[in-house]
Formats: sequence, structure tokens, C-alpha cells
Amino acid sequence: MNYISTRDDKVKVSSCEAIAEGISADGGLFVPESIPEISLEEISALAEKTYAERAEYILGLFLTDFTEDELKACVKGAYSTGFSDEKIAPVVNLPGGRNILELFKGPTCAFKDMALQILPHLLTVAGRKAAPGTEIVILVATSGDTGKAALEGFRDVPGTKILVFYPSEGVSPMQKLQMCTQEGNNVAVCAIRGNFDDAQTGVKRIFTDKAIGEKLRLAGKAFSSANSINWGRLAPQIVYYFSAYCDLIGQGNIKPGDKVNIVVPTGNFGNILAAYYAGEMGLPVAKFICASNRNSVLTEFLTTGVYDRNREFYTTISPSMDILISSNLERLLYTLAGSEKVKEWMGLLAKEGRYEVDPETLGKIKEKFAAGCCDDEATKATIAKVFKEDGYLCDTHTAVAVTVYEEYRKSTGDLTPAIIASTASPFKFSASVLEAVTGEKSGLDEFEMVNELSRVTGKACPPQLAGLKEKAVRFDRCCEKAEMDAVVFEMLNI
Ligand SMILES: *Cc1c(COP(=O)(O)O)cnc(C)c1O
Repeated sequence: MNYISTRDDKVKVSSCEAIAEGISADGGLFVPESIPEISLEEISALAEKTYAERAEYILGLFLTDFTEDELKACVKGAYSTGFSDEKIAPVVNLPGGRNILELFKGPTCAFKDMALQILPHLLTVAGRKAAPGTEIVILVATSGDTGKAALEGFRDVPGTKILVFYPSEGVSPMQKLQMCTQEGNNVAVCAIRGNFDDAQTGVKRIFTDKAIGEKLRLAGKAFSSANSINWGRLAPQIVYYFSAYCDLIGQGNIKPGDKVNIVVPTGNFGNILAAYYAGEMGLPVAKFICASNRNSVLTEFLTTGVYDRNREFYTTISPSMDILISSNLERLLYTLAGSEKVKEWMGLLAKEGRYEVDPETLGKIKEKFAAGCCDDEATKATIAKVFKEDGYLCDTHTAVAVTVYEEYRKSTGDLTPAIIASTASPFKFSASVLEAVTGEKSGLDEFEMVNELSRVTGKACPPQLAGLKEKAVRFDRCCEKAEMDAVVFEMLNI
């Protein structure tokens, strides 16, 4: 299967090239030329299989220039260790047709692990085929979660190195500790004096600097990117929606062919887009429900057809969804309206920060998508309510989805069983979750809060978070923006 650019369908590459290159030279994103279909018989057969087997099967439909053995090895490398639940992405049933798909059982306790545990393996195979003998160097600028998940994914993966820059004043104490104590022989972490934008701008500049690129090439290395527009991150996310559906069959909650709704707490639109692709492949889905926090740009877009980023940016208690430009939306627009229109709209977005889709495209969107948003108060109220009524503790991002879903059910009367994506462990956002459960701010430090949350709720903190306090700090360097090049060279010994 070939991949084409969302902004020019004459650009055609293999799946290895799509993954190795990350983004198309015309600024577009790579999308599969056609969507492979999966029958109900195949879904029923997958219901008898393990997560790894489901992953091999579904990825095989998209990554056609990987051999079966290569895919098997990638899947094994990703999901055979590092996940605390043997089901990898277990489904927890709550009353009212709510089925929580827990995507946070990986090493960093956030859903980014689902893709970032396998991406390094896909990338090394793709790199071996697209540019044999080259060492892949991953540079990441992070505001927190992605950096840690990428470090864990790439650690000790042969043929790769990873270097993460984070803003010295822009990550939570827990996130900082997670990164600074990172283990592995091919990893490095460096703070930079500045904010996230400074880190991001610096990384982008290094990526595109011709002289630095040449220096790497001479040393047999090349930069690559692990960010969420890489097809190698999206494809693995399709798997868990099939897996959840299979588990619902196994649990006796649905029969093969029954429709489900899928609810996703959304930021960059990657996770919900993966669900949409699953639906296009044949997973029986009625509605995709896009949940946002107070940054409601997507709610507005999916209900009115107007995308307008010229609005206030809010910092919320669900920070991984604090986003005004959802890059992966471009892939949905391509599927619905084609590359000419995408090019026009993305041009407008870059120039004016706003575009409006035509009525036909909006009609197609509304057929498949519902959307809603909620603020921090409603998010906290949901955490408290779900814990009290159902004994289930959810994190702030998941709570946004649960809130929006409740509202959806009330306003539509649609009682179709729902798969609700749960994207982080509640212990990753202890301060807000503890406040929601107890009704007051605690005044404790990060680790005391983790313990207190565990005590108050009777839930165990994942050991990889609880154990951080005892781990040795390996990376304590903080550099100026201007020193970033030197840090890169130093790490790479070039
Ligand atoms: C990244 C992230 C999201 C948003 O996912 P997208 O694919 O960007 O829409 C939601 N919740 C958590 C915890 C995340 O880390």
C-alpha cells in the first residue's frame, strides 16, 4: 500500500518512507492511499486473540512493506514488557453502557506509550530499508508527557539515539523527575532556560539547519521525528479500538456487528482520528464523540464548520488537551474533501488562523462526529461523582470525556454502548484529582499528594511513579537557547 500527501495526491511513498520521513516535503501529512477493510468474521476471529496478535494483524494491513517477521518483532519489542496489564489496553465496564478503555498501562502511565513503545521499532525497520546503515537521532521538544514517553520508547533501541529538551520553567515536578531520572544508554535530557516555544523553536531550527544535517550525515546519522503526525504513531492507535471491541464481545457486552460509540478526550486529534480510521475499515461505530476542555476550538469546528484559532488560550487541569491547532485534523479533511481543499484551508489557517469548510463537508462531519466541551469545574465534579458512584478513579483528561459523554447521552437519548478512551493514570495528575475527590486543595508536595490520593481512594499508585523519588537524577544540565547545538554535538560525539 502506498501513502500520499494530504496536500498533493501525486506524492506517493511506501509505508517505510512515510514513517522514516515523518512529514511530506510539501507540508502535508502522509495518509494511506486506500483504507483496508476488515470483515465481521475477521473481527470475530481477532476476539479470540491476544493484543499482540491483534496488533500484528491490523498493522500488517497498513504496513505492507514490512515482512511478517519484522512486524512480529516490532510488536514484541513494544508490548511484551513494560505494560503493567497483560491485556495491554484493558476495558473496564461501568454502569450506563460506559466502557473505559484504559490506555495508560505503559511505562509512563499515559496513552502516548501505546504508540511510542512501538514507533522506535517501526522506525528502525523503516530506516534500515529507506537509508541502510544510518543511525537515527530523535530530537524532541516537550512540554512534559511526550518527552518521557519518547525516552522510554527509544531507550536502548539499537541504531537510535534520543535527546529531549524541556523548558526549565514549563513542566510539572513529576514530569521533570520522570525525565531527569531516565535510564538507558542512548538517551539524554537537557533543560533549556525559556518556555516551551523556545525549546520547540530551537529543535525545529536544528532539524532544518543544512550544516548540522551535513555534519550528521558525515557521521552516519540522520535526524528523525517522533511527533504525533508520524504515521508510525497513528497506525498503532487504530489497533486498540479493534481490541476494545473484541474485548466487549469477549465480555458478552455486545455481539459481533453491534454498533458502539467511541468517546475520546482530544488534543491534537490523533487518538480520535485513529478511531475514525478503525470505523472506515469496518469497525461498527455509530458516532465518534470528540471531547475538549475549555479550549473548545474542535467543538466549534465539528458543529459549525468554522475552525478559528484566533481565540484565548486557556491553561487547564487537562494540559495535554490545551491546544489550538490540532494537526491531525488535516487527515480527516483529506478523507472528506480531498487534497485541493485541504491545501486551501491549511493555507488560510497559516495566514489568517481561520477557515470554514463547505456545507457538504460539514454534513459529512456531522454524520459521523458529535462534539462537546467542559471546564475545569465540571471535570473535577465528574472525577468526584464517578469515584463516589462507581468506585472508579479517572484522571482529568478522561473525566473530560466522561463529562461530555454524559451530556451527549442526556441531550440525544442515544443509549448505544460507548467505548471511552482513558488517556492517563489519575496519579499522573494527583493535585487536581486529589482536590476533586476531597473537595479542597491539599498544600502537599507532589509525592505527598500521590500518597494521599492513594490513601484517600484506596487505589495503588503505579510503581513507576511512586518509585521516582528514590531514583538517581542522571540529567541535571540546563543550557541557554544558543547552546542547544553544542549539546546535540556533545551527545552525539561529533
Ligand atoms: C496527548 C494526550 C491527549 C490528546 O490526544 P490527541 O491524540 O493529541 O488528541 C489526551 N490525554 C492525554 C493524557 C494525552 O497525553
